[in-house]
Amino acid sequence: MFGRKKPEVLVVGAGPVGLVAALTLARRGVRVQIIDEAWRPTAHAYALALHPRSLALLADMGIAGPVIDAAYRVDGIGLYTGAERRAKLDLAQVGGDHPYVAVMSQSGLEGLLTEALAEHKVKVDWNHRLARIKSHEDHVAVSVDKLEKDTTGYAVTHSSWVVGSGHDFDVPFVIGADGHRSLVRRQLQMEFPEVGKPQHFAVFEFATDFDFGRELRIMLNESDANVVWPLPDGHCRFSFELPGYDDPKDVRRKDRHMFDLGGVRYPQLEESNLLQLLKQRVPWFDGSVGDIRWRLVVRFERRLVKTFGAERVWLAGDAGHMTSPVGIQSMNVGIQEAHALATAMADTLQGSASSDALAAYDKGRLAEWRGLMGLEKKLKRVTAETPEWVTPFANELVMGLPASGSELTALAAQVGVVA
Ligand SMILES: Cc1cc2nc3c(=O)[nH]c(=O)nc-3n(C[C@H](O)[C@H](O)[C@H](O)COP(=O)(O)OP(=O)(O)OC[C@H]3O[C@@H](n4cnc5c(N)ncnc54)[C@H](O)[C@@H]3O)c2cc1C
Repeated sequence: MFGRKKPEVLVVGAGPVGLVAALTLARRGVRVQIIDEAWRPTAHAYALALHPRSLALLADMGIAGPVIDAAYRVDGIGLYTGAERRAKLDLAQVGGDHPYVAVMSQSGLEGLLTEALAEHKVKVDWNHRLARIKSHEDHVAVSVDKLEKDTTGYAVTHSSWVVGSGHDFDVPFVIGADGHRSLVRRQLQMEFPEVGKPQHFAVFEFATDFDFGRELRIMLNESDANVVWPLPDGHCRFSFELPGYDDPKDVRRKDRHMFDLGGVRYPQLEESNLLQLLKQRVPWFDGSVGDIRWRLVVRFERRLVKTFGAERVWLAGDAGHMTSPVGIQSMNVGIQEAHALATAMADTLQGSASSDALAAYDKGRLAEWRGLMGLEKKLKRVTAETPEWVTPFANELVMGLPASGSELTALAAQVGVVA
């Protein structure tokens, strides 16, 4: 990392959003450095699908082919209220070159993006943590710590990261793609208020012989939203909303009922919880329940920044917004904004941007997220043509559909909802 030519943009965070930002900059010939405090790419499979719009973006970047080859294609969305099947939305009708959703693990996507970046001679600096950041009129001053592994052999080998060498430098622009606990956002004191109640979801991924017929299914009830995604390898992922769930107060380090994922403790669930939820909420599911590889309660907050940045430091992805997992909006809209931000920054650096290109990014992001999250009071989701069964669920439906922009508008219109 140190000793290379000075970067024009520092991207903090090599999740899907940071990687798309870095790749966009590299493709534009901007000198970019991307750092991540993790010691290697994530092995996690959190966000699991790419919207039609994301596929179009990846196609523009020349990597849609391998993504589509590796992914499982979903063509339709089954909608249920209670036990009743109400409608099927057809992704083929949204138009464009990729009228489907590609189910693919987040780690798989990150791997392909990392390879594409390497082709542009940009390597992610793993084990590098942004420690401090200060924005000045004509530059941003940053401190980056290089982490090194310290292994101490007790009865059970214990490994921890310690701070090795540190490095202070100035850079013209910074993109904070450092996730929901963003240090960039916190150090620059950008507000990140709650815009809705947090939701808890019981997430189960298991092997099954059920044939979903290339369809994802959304089950809406008066007090909960639930979704099941078919996965490529004979597995599926059910996410059941748990209204009224209380976070455990006593989270001890060695509690066998808790699971450590990226430094966060999640309550583990039992197979009996899954069987009960299936019986109560998905009476049509008559498939087998085989090996369960995920069984966690995950808390999803609803937050949106007041502004995505100013002057030389800008946010993208979970650093700027958090919402429900049903429609995989956080990651998919996040990668769109990474591309938009990186493009505005490249234009600014290369002198082809209007003076308010970055301010326009902020305005556009806030408008899209406020619309998606149903925060625009004037927005009417239902019309006289909306079927009665849809009306109470119109907001949840918009947030839960796997699309954004004009594709989301087209999908929601199939059930008379205005997105
Ligand atoms: C358990 C779990 C389940 C989820 N399930 C779903 C789901 O079902 N559907 C869905 O849509 N979404 C889900 N998500 C959310 C999804 O993972 C995120 O929306 C997505 O990862 C956002 O991408 P990002 O690049 O903005 O942030 P992240 O993927 O969080 O990446 C941020 C990166 O920044 C790095 N970083 C942080 N601080 C620093 C620092 N100071 N210096 C250097 N690097 C730093 C981190 O190591 C990380 O790699 C889930 C998340 C979790 C945790």
